[in-house]
Amino acid sequence: MAVTRTFSIIKPDATRRNLTGGVTKMLEEAGLRVVASKRIQMTKEQAEGFYAVHKERPFFNDLVSFMISGPVVVQVLEGEDAVKCNRDVMGATNPADAAEGTIRKTYAESIEANSVHGSDSDENAAIEIAYFFKPEEIVG
Ligand code: UDP
Repeated sequence: MAVTRTFSIIKPDATRRNLTGGVTKMLEEAGLRVVASKRIQMTKEQAEGFYAVHKERPFFNDLVSFMISGPVVVQVLEGEDAVKCNRDVMGATNPADAAEGTIRKTYAESIEANSVHGSDSDENAAIEIAYFFKPEEIVG
């Protein structure tokens, strides 16, 4: 299995509850290495652009409002099959459906305030990493 990269966001519900360390610990224990990380306040335009794929969905406006409701931590994660590894440790979108031991089962508040984002493919990971990081900000 190849070592690859994925993109992660620790969402505002988690930063508000001081869970940056708790979430990162679970990512690291899953075998992922944080090779870039920064705490930012997303602008409305940034959040709308990031979630553009969802812009026709009924939850889009609420999701954008939530994502700019406080700081987030954007991260690049590296590991064996990083996209799948991260999706596995994140758990299902709705914490009510998430498996025991996953980040969302442990920490998420609701289907919207679900503590973490993770890329769903290698292709999207590359796009999402480039949306927030310059190449020189990533140190493997
Ligand atoms: N979301 C929401 N309501 C829904 C579905 C999704 O608020 O009914 C939010 C939630 O924060 C989720 C994000 O939109 O993480 C992106 O949705 P997606 O289906 O891509 O889920 P993910 O890949 O994050 O599990």
